Amino acid sequence: MKIIINILIIFTLITGCRNQTDEQQMESMKGRTEKFIGVNTVNEVIDSLLSMNSDSDRFRIERGVNQVADFWRKEDGDINMFREFCLDYFIPAGERLDVFFKKTERNTEVLTGNYTGLALQLREPLELDMGEITPIDLMIGSYNPSSHLLDDFFKNRIAFYQLLNFPFYSLDEKLKSGPEWSRKHWAFARIGDQIVARVPSGVIQSYSDILTLADTYIAEYNIYMHKLTDDSGQRHFPEGLKLISHWGLRDEIKSHYSEKEGVTKQRMVFEVMKRIVTQEIPVQVINHDKFTWNPYTNRIFIANKEEEVKQEKNIRYKYLLDIFQAVRKQDAYYPYYPTALERAFNKDMQIPRDEVEQLFVELLLSSQASEVAKLISTRMGRPLEPFDIWYSGFKPEGSQIDESLLDKRVAKTYPTKDAFESSLPLILMKLGFSREESETICSRITVDPSRGAGHAAGAEMKTEKSHLRTRIGKNGMDYKAYNIAIHEFGHTVEQTLTLYDMDYYSLKGIPNTAFTEALAFAFQKRDLELLGIKSTDPLEKHLMALDIFWSCFEIMGVSLVDIYVWEWLYENPFATADDLKEAVLKISKEVWNSYYAEIFGVKDQAILAIYSHMIAYPLYLSAYPVGHLIDYQIEEYISDKEFAGEVRRIFASGNVTPDLWMKNAVGSGISNKPLLSAVDEALSALTASHDL
Ligand SMILES: [Zn+2]
Repeated sequence: MKIIINILIIFTLITGCRNQTDEQQMESMKGRTEKFIGVNTVNEVIDSLLSMNSDSDRFRIERGVNQVADFWRKEDGDINMFREFCLDYFIPAGERLDVFFKKTERNTEVLTGNYTGLALQLREPLELDMGEITPIDLMIGSYNPSSHLLDDFFKNRIAFYQLLNFPFYSLDEKLKSGPEWSRKHWAFARIGDQIVARVPSGVIQSYSDILTLADTYIAEYNIYMHKLTDDSGQRHFPEGLKLISHWGLRDEIKSHYSEKEGVTKQRMVFEVMKRIVTQEIPVQVINHDKFTWNPYTNRIFIANKEEEVKQEKNIRYKYLLDIFQAVRKQDAYYPYYPTALERAFNKDMQIPRDEVEQLFVELLLSSQASEVAKLISTRMGRPLEPFDIWYSGFKPEGSQIDESLLDKRVAKTYPTKDAFESSLPLILMKLGFSREESETICSRITVDPSRGAGHAAGAEMKTEKSHLRTRIGKNGMDYKAYNIAIHEFGHTVEQTLTLYDMDYYSLKGIPNTAFTEALAFAFQKRDLELLGIKSTDPLEKHLMALDIFWSCFEIMGVSLVDIYVWEWLYENPFATADDLKEAVLKISKEVWNSYYAEIFGVKDQAILAIYSHMIAYPLYLSAYPVGHLIDYQIEEYISDKEFAGEVRRIFASGNVTPDLWMKNAVGSGISNKPLLSAVDEALSALTASHDL
């Protein structure tokens, strides 16, 4: 969830002010789709520039002038002003362009760095342990000081100056030519990525509004579990257990694998999920504990008296439809990424949609899937049921160490925030960093007392520190907090290395969020080792491989449903919520029938459509399985190498494409292969040890 929360914060950050009516928006959309600068003017300006410059600048001239024309509107000036601007401000390749590039990098760092620091500081009363949250904290926390920056940059022409001189490259071009580019060429290309949209603030605002509504709908979708009964009137869940869909419901299924009678509870949760997906669920039981509900028969009662069910109908799908409509309104303002799918894959993830689909299908159809399924069925002593996509029984038994003993040990080592902060260099040294490196890195990280479980907020300029947020109680840190703090420490180390050790500011960071998670998990996995406790389970590595494989097997199907639903929406832009519901049910059953039905021995299941992300966080799901694969490949690669040195080498790549990053890191692009062969190994190791 961390990633999602971060994304929501960014959405709130880009919230502009509400200063356009719908009519004005429609007007400006019309203006946007018919370009103000015609093709003849563009060609004429290109010819003039070509006659004034050498032919080696042809590509930059052609692309630059077209880019300015793509964003130029009537209010920016007439055709003559456009022509004059291009002729005056084009800089041929060479020393002057290099100076402009360096200054643009500096300006970007000053602006991004300060705005990020400003927003972070303003949100401190919300995020840090600073007493009661008052209304002004909430108001200032959702205020975004940089919301007008892009508008200003079009008005003062800085945006056009960049567009004219730094070509934008499509993902396709980056994938084809990127591996041959110098670091400097990559840095120039990232400046070319800075301005890809000119969305009116009113359009951003209405999108942000609907996201907030959908988020609230999801956040308040709780089921009171002790109110559920089966056909014999029996309850199976404890009083007070309230679970949020889908996370809480899913985790409830996961938590009952070690119990003998757990399957009764799991089946009941599964019935609830089905009623949510089909929208037959009574609205009376959502977030309310007044009614007793039998999810098998879908009947509700108050004090044994049956009441009439009011089904939720299509509210769930109405939210998704509203989000789609709000997203579609932005399309016209992204000339190079004209759909939500292109933005999700080509811009944000930087992996082509077809490649993602191929990766997922390959794993879903792998022979390992049915072998692991057989193993799970043997371990459970029953045939698989659809909810076993969440089987959680591959957790290593190595963590037999009593958690209360761990709590004591951690509290003794880290009694206060300061004690934890001052020991950070020592932790890095245990991971193999030299004393000097450790001290330098940690001098750029600061520890804050957090309200939440933990968080890492990276700096965006080289005079700022990254913030590691952790919660330390009065009696010192407990093991859970320590485990999360080590994860967040991994994030802050990545944030520090990829900012301070980067050759160009424009290349700072990582290709997408999956990459920072990889390092955070690599740290977190070593948490016991860092306390001086060695794992004793020889099968740990194998169980972990099976666990990751089964999560991928589940969430890859879920992600395919997400992608196909969005494609259906673009093909049916005028669909009603009812049409959309039918489509979601059809698509999820099709995905089920293609990849799961045979293994589970049952057809036409719609369970893959239960994820809340599908409703409130558009097209984000695919990032999770891709993240798992990347994480696994990196972990495999560095397992027999020197950790610290490899981390420094690998993360020095910065923000290139994920494909190139992975080739630099582990010698091959993103692939299922290492995970699949680890599963093969695990299957034979488990057979040999008879630990089925
Ligand atoms: Zn994380």
